[in-house]
Amino acid sequence: MRHRLAFCVLAMGICSNSAAFSQSLAFTFDDGPKLKETPLMSPQARNTALLAALEKHHVKAALFVTLGNGADRPEGLALAKAWGEAGHAIGNHTVTHPDLNAKTITLKQYQDEVQACDAVIRTLPGYRPWFRFTFLREGDTPEKRDGMKSFLKTKGMRNAYVSLDTSDWRLDSALAAALNDHPAADITPFRTTYLAHLRQRAEAYRDLSRRLFGRDIPQVLLLHHNLINALFLDDAIQLFKSMGWTIIDPGTAFQDFVYTLEPQRPAPGQSLLISAARSLGYRPENWERLLDDGDQEIAELKRKGAIPVSFE
Ligand SMILES: [Zn+2]
Repeated sequence: MRHRLAFCVLAMGICSNSAAFSQSLAFTFDDGPKLKETPLMSPQARNTALLAALEKHHVKAALFVTLGNGADRPEGLALAKAWGEAGHAIGNHTVTHPDLNAKTITLKQYQDEVQACDAVIRTLPGYRPWFRFTFLREGDTPEKRDGMKSFLKTKGMRNAYVSLDTSDWRLDSALAAALNDHPAADITPFRTTYLAHLRQRAEAYRDLSRRLFGRDIPQVLLLHHNLINALFLDDAIQLFKSMGWTIIDPGTAFQDFVYTLEPQRPAPGQSLLISAARSLGYRPENWERLLDDGDQEIAELKRKGAIPVSFE
């Protein structure tokens, strides 16, 4: 009940400010830099393409490094360094991308991964004490959940929340599957579907922000260091610009007070907006479309014949 009251007061207070309806967005990329081979582009070419799209639009973003994906080797560390040198922020996303909620991983093991990643990335230009939870899962037992909260506070690190979650990773694996089957496959359907997906999620999360907080919060977008973004990030940035959204850097977005909230839930995680809604017992109409893994988009690609019907 106390939460509901606080929520209403919050919403009313901020609703009175007309400047509250002005949408901004920060770009963040997880799991990079990735040295794994993909069709069409080398790891270096993917990294260069991502940085070129950001540079073209004067966007300052953040890269959340998963050390074991490449930055633990000199050639991978060079790719991460290029982000810092280009003025982007570098944050922490563990070494092996373990799932904190898994029974097989202990709090101590998870914290050791954060520290091991930090020991390497803190040497890079652009380093920030920002931690992005893997799978956006913040612990499903009191020990893990509260243990990570106090660990991050002790280390002076922030929970680098996501507000605008996407399933770019699923569309990326569909794209890779199609290209592995047919190296000369037409990638146009993936571009169309991906951009439509980003628009749908952006509008849905904007709506949820207004319902929860009575205003447009600066959104923090989660994308990944992958092929689909190496190919279409330029288009994605252009899409948000065409929607009238202003692109800001992640550090500016994180200054908004919503990014200091800690929704009280047994197993917090996912988008901060989803987590806040769950802590309030609020469930919007389009809930499933926020939480699915791009299922409708995958079904559409199958209908178009862009991916085999057996793709999961
Ligand atoms: Zn990740």
